[in-house]
Order: sequence, then structure tokens, then C-alpha cells
Amino acid sequence: MSSNTDLSRLSAVQTRLADALAQAGRTTDSCELIVVSKTQSAERMRALVQGQTLHFGENYLAEALDKIPQVSDAIWHFIGAIQSNKTAAIAENFDWVHTLDRGKIARRLNDQRPDTAEPLNVLIQVNVDNEPSKAGVGFDDIAPLAATIAELPRLRLRGLMSIPAPSDDPAQAHRALREALEKLQDAHPDATELSMGMSGDMPQAVAEGATFVRIGTAIFGPRQPKDTH
Ligand SMILES: *Cc1c(COP(=O)(O)O)cnc(C)c1O
Repeated sequence: MSSNTDLSRLSAVQTRLADALAQAGRTTDSCELIVVSKTQSAERMRALVQGQTLHFGENYLAEALDKIPQVSDAIWHFIGAIQSNKTAAIAENFDWVHTLDRGKIARRLNDQRPDTAEPLNVLIQVNVDNEPSKAGVGFDDIAPLAATIAELPRLRLRGLMSIPAPSDDPAQAHRALREALEKLQDAHPDATELSMGMSGDMPQAVAEGATFVRIGTAIFGPRQPKDTH
């Protein structure tokens, strides 16, 4: 796939996001596009930058650490599963973490965030469908984890994130996350971000208030299996 194609698809996604925001009566700058670049090469990522500051979302730490130095002026979001022995490199190399769901990981990220950097922006991942095999806290566990994070000076609690199960009515899970954020804001008014919406459900997520959408396939096309790269 040529990087020219990637660039025109990125631009089409940016237009679709702007349209979805307009449709929802929201301003263009009220939702940020995260380009989900897992399994994609640094070269393909660099070709998308073209003078714009892009947000990239990465799931696999080793792969991300290889690419981050090769793609300059980007904002980096960690959106993958966090193993506790990998927290130092996440704390040192990313601007945002979307997948925080345990106090132990929060404390490690806090302790390992370099003093020279701004506090790390974190989102609590919520298991909106209550699927036993899935990462994320249940709705009732958001408040206690938020209280833990609020005590940690090197972390900044910014909001909530979800990966809903595919559904005929994606708006339902999005609405539930938005309502959970509104509740969280009683105690944590600075938590204003909602990370939800992927290639398949972006307009619905925007209509329900997403402030970050995470888009991979609609920009790069279908991903190759990771182990062939
Ligand atoms: C892969 C991934 C995405 C992007 O999904 P697409 O369907 O390719 O747009 C978004 N969020 C997370 C957490 C992911 O792992």
C-alpha cells in the first residue's frame, strides 16, 4: 500500500471526523484523532506527518520504542495492555496512557515518570460490556481507582476510555461511558476526556461526546498479523 494512499485516507478520515463533529453541533477542535499505528512501519507513519502534529496510538511497547525516535514531533498514546514489568518505559516515552485499570500500575507509572517531564496523562479503561475476559474496571470500580490516581503527583487523571464489544447499537456503550465521566467529574472536574470510537463506530462515538477517537484500519487498511512483521 503506498503512503500516498495512506495520506489520502488520513485526510478522508479527518474530513469524516469534522463532519461528525459538525453534525453533533460540536467545534472542530473538540475531538482529537489518534492514528492507531500498531504493526505499521515508522516510514509509513513519517509519511503521514507532513508538517502536522499527529497523535499516534501504539499497543505493543517494544515496537513503539523502536519507532518513537524515528517519528518526530508526534504525541504518543499508549493504548495496549500494560504489563507491570514494562511500566518504566511507558512512563518515560509516552504522553498519554489510555489503558490504566489497576492501582498497582498507577503507582508504578507515577514512581517512574521522569521529573523532567510533565505529569503523565492517564485515562481509566472501563470494561463497558462487563466481559469477563476483557481489560478495564467495572463501573463501580472507577471511583476508587480515580481516588488512588488523584493522590499520585506524577499522574494527571484526564478521563475514561473504552473498547466496546461490536454491537448493532454502539451508542449505548458510548452513552454509558459518557454518563460515567459526568459522575466522575463531581470529584474530579479536570477529568474531561472520553476516548472511544474506532474505525467502525466513529460517528456514533462523536455524537455521544468522544474527545479522542482511535482509528487504524480506516487509515492504513487492514493490518497484517503482527508476527509476520
Ligand atoms: C487497534 C485498536 C484501535 C484501532 O482499531 P481500528 O478498527 O483499526 O480502527 C483502537 N483502539 C485500540 C485500543 C486498539 O487496540
